[in-house]
Amino acid sequence: MQETQQTLSEKSAALIAKENKYGAHNYHPLPVVLDRGEGVFVWDVDGKKYYDFLSAYSAVNQGHCHPKIIDAMVKQAQTLTLTSRAFHNDKLGVFEEYITKYFGFDKLLPMNTGAEAVETALKLCRKWAYEVKQIPENQAQIIVCENNFHGRTTTIISFSNDEGARKNFGPFTDGFIKIPYDDTAALEAALKSSPNIAGFLVEPIQGEAGVYVPTEGYLAKAKALCEAHNVLFIADEVQTGIARTGRLLATCGNCSCSNGCENNPEVKPDILILGKAISGGVYPVSAVLANDAIMNVIQPGQHGSTFGGNPVAAAVAMAALEVVKDEKLSQNAEYLGTVLRKGLNEIASRNPLITLVRGKGLLNAIVINSDEDSDLAWNICLKFRDYGLLAKPTHGNKIRFAPPLVITEEQIHDCLAIIEKALNDFK
Ligand SMILES: *Cc1c(COP(=O)(O)O)cnc(C)c1O
Repeated sequence: MQETQQTLSEKSAALIAKENKYGAHNYHPLPVVLDRGEGVFVWDVDGKKYYDFLSAYSAVNQGHCHPKIIDAMVKQAQTLTLTSRAFHNDKLGVFEEYITKYFGFDKLLPMNTGAEAVETALKLCRKWAYEVKQIPENQAQIIVCENNFHGRTTTIISFSNDEGARKNFGPFTDGFIKIPYDDTAALEAALKSSPNIAGFLVEPIQGEAGVYVPTEGYLAKAKALCEAHNVLFIADEVQTGIARTGRLLATCGNCSCSNGCENNPEVKPDILILGKAISGGVYPVSAVLANDAIMNVIQPGQHGSTFGGNPVAAAVAMAALEVVKDEKLSQNAEYLGTVLRKGLNEIASRNPLITLVRGKGLLNAIVINSDEDSDLAWNICLKFRDYGLLAKPTHGNKIRFAPPLVITEEQIHDCLAIIEKALNDFK
């Protein structure tokens, strides 16, 4: 793969060389070395400014280094950082009340990373299945979707079908049934296949798979099927949540919040998994939300995390969630998403390199006219970089466009011009 088109500065090259020499090679970053971020922009070590069109996989929805979130973190970091859950702290209960009211659930189980929250949801679902649904011990099955991405732990990769994520990491965890995504007939058949189905774990939009948006009504139908079979509907909104798709949650629908969800049926998950933007990308915070009938199956000593629910996480997450409401980020994502897709479709009509534009709110992708194993999308991303916009290919020929939600309409037009100019270089 071509590493660069523009020559990297000596400073950048030296820093990349250090990562290569001293760091495990578990990522293949775009060759750019960043040292500063503010709002929708990041700067490299040579002072060049870029639009961030990835937002750390949608963790930085509120924009880089949002002053209100940073203030909350600094203040809390100077006061009390960690007590462990062996003792109480003065922030956790306040945060739990805040977030449960914010999303409309009885209880929170706080963790740190997205994968930990997914693991927590799976454990919670299984325990509920044995203790409430009365499935015989060790027989519980959880339905998942093909091409899912839920994180990197051994159990989570057990039900991945990404060869790179699985190869030589076995043996794997049992108890999962994989069905095609966006296929309610397959879900119904799986639900009917056994009385031991405990849950259905699903991404409302498959982000890593290339921003695959399911058919209108899929989630509502899936939820209804789960309900009819007494199976928990578990939504992994780690990437889609917190205003990214133009709604507070991608599962949000007709409620009274006037967030632009009018035409979406509300799908209230039994278990909601959040991460990434819940902290605005400043600190690892994740969350599992559920009502008492489910959450109360977890008792002292049965699950935990040293850092989960620490005071810094609590203060940061509350500030980050306040920013989402104060700055109307859902509405902004909804409106600017339509502007971005309209602009991208216009570019596609002039440039056959784009075969498809898809997405919701500000979670979008273009599909490049090449094979999945071609390096064309990578080279296009290098060109975007040269022209001042950072994005990354996902699954070979797809490029995700997910800027921070604080972006303005003028900036979106600026970015569309960069995108078209770069693509024209490949015509
Ligand atoms: C990123 C992501 C995860 C994993 O989160 P980590 O913080 O990287 O562990 C899980 N589910 C989805 C949908 C994600 O996008």
